Amino acid sequence: MRKLRRLLTRLLLLALLVFAAIFTVNTISFSSKQVTVQPVEPVKIEDAAVERLAGALRLPTVSEEGKIDTAAFRLLDTFFQKNYPLVDSMLEKTTIGGFSHIFKWQGQNAHLSPILLMAHLDVVPVEDGGSQWSVEPFSGKIGDGYLWGRGSMDDKSSACGILEAIEMLLQVDYIPQRTVYVAFGHDEEIGGEQGAKQIAAYFKQKNIEFDFVLDEGNLIVEDALPGLDQPLALIGIAEKGYATLELTVNLDEGGHSSMPPPGSAINRLSEAIVKLRDNPSPAKIEGPVRAMFDHVGPEMSFFNKIIFANLTWTQGLVKSQMSQGTATNAMLRTTFAPTMASGGFKENVLPMQAKATVNCRILPGESVESTLKHARKVIDDEKITVSVSEKSPASEPVPAMDMGTFGYSVLQTTIREIFPEAVVAPALVIGATDSRHYQPVSKNILRFQPLKINREDLKRFHGIDERIEVESYRQMVRFYRQLILNSCK
Ligand SMILES: [Zn+2]
Repeated sequence: MRKLRRLLTRLLLLALLVFAAIFTVNTISFSSKQVTVQPVEPVKIEDAAVERLAGALRLPTVSEEGKIDTAAFRLLDTFFQKNYPLVDSMLEKTTIGGFSHIFKWQGQNAHLSPILLMAHLDVVPVEDGGSQWSVEPFSGKIGDGYLWGRGSMDDKSSACGILEAIEMLLQVDYIPQRTVYVAFGHDEEIGGEQGAKQIAAYFKQKNIEFDFVLDEGNLIVEDALPGLDQPLALIGIAEKGYATLELTVNLDEGGHSSMPPPGSAINRLSEAIVKLRDNPSPAKIEGPVRAMFDHVGPEMSFFNKIIFANLTWTQGLVKSQMSQGTATNAMLRTTFAPTMASGGFKENVLPMQAKATVNCRILPGESVESTLKHARKVIDDEKITVSVSEKSPASEPVPAMDMGTFGYSVLQTTIREIFPEAVVAPALVIGATDSRHYQPVSKNILRFQPLKINREDLKRFHGIDERIEVESYRQMVRFYRQLILNSCK
């Protein structure tokens, strides 16, 4: 007996040693994937450039379903013509859908395929007329080192940043080798059907294919992850899909609320929603999310490095940790969010019908069809029909682009040149961007906004007191300028 116990202890020790050895080897060979580049000396960005962004923020280019402030968009167009005069006179401009614009900056070398820089001009509305804001949301106020206003982060800083960079290059008579296109949509916040989608169709019809497309998506975030001291610059290389499911309960009879049956329409609908919450889609660490950890892990503190270097064994732990946070959970799986519910018409009558709307964001590798299947399987109620809503168009997830391409490489290099302190990693974009409309015109869609912000400030996107640090805006202009120089040599 004692011999057996001794043998078992030895075997256990041996197994632990083997594991420790594997973990150590993996951790040591988990080396940095950051490109080494020489930081670029910051070029001077005049105060007037910041003033110009402030001016653009004063125009309330709000887009809402079925409602667009057309006057504000016209004023913004005139504002651009006046304030970026060289862009206006030297680039070829095409207007699409009334308020979206394409600018073409002809390159010298016709053998090089063009690139496309994107942004959107519309902004989301301000709740309660901005009563909760500490500044007037469309005042374009500059103070405390910040530029305040709706659109300062999302996405006029990109639009003005791109124009500013081109204007600066035109001032020194720079001519790109490669043709540079710029496209500004006017309805991104309501789906991009009249803007980005039509612009992409225009390019397709003209047979223009881009080497790469750069659109908003991920940012550079300080304090992004525990165990990572440096700011994290994420390049969105894939995008989640989008679908809205409609759950409808149809019963043969309603009844009186004084004698309620257990399975009333509203009971059944509630149960279905709870089932969806309690039976989430499987968590996966693969594709762009796995690639993100492969890039971020080596830069982390020792303990985290061990975890991410050994994901084969530690992914259960990582998944359960990530599932706790809403943003990290969304990276792991297809999500189901109940957003609307209705049923009933009188307080003492049991309705025969009840409905709910569930918005789904679909992980690459899965599909609208598999999402619908999952919901049906989980709900498993013959009285409930589950279907994909036809009210808003569903879109399949956009699979990860190839990271071995010129586009990814030039973006990665430019980020490190302008933000040498940042760790660069590929990532999955969990929201939907205009760039999904561009799949027919480029294989390489990069989703990255060169905006450095603190994690705390993320909630200002579409939120209260949206603002951008003046220095962050200067860095955005430097970034776009450098990206054009690097891409068009
Ligand atoms: Zn945006």
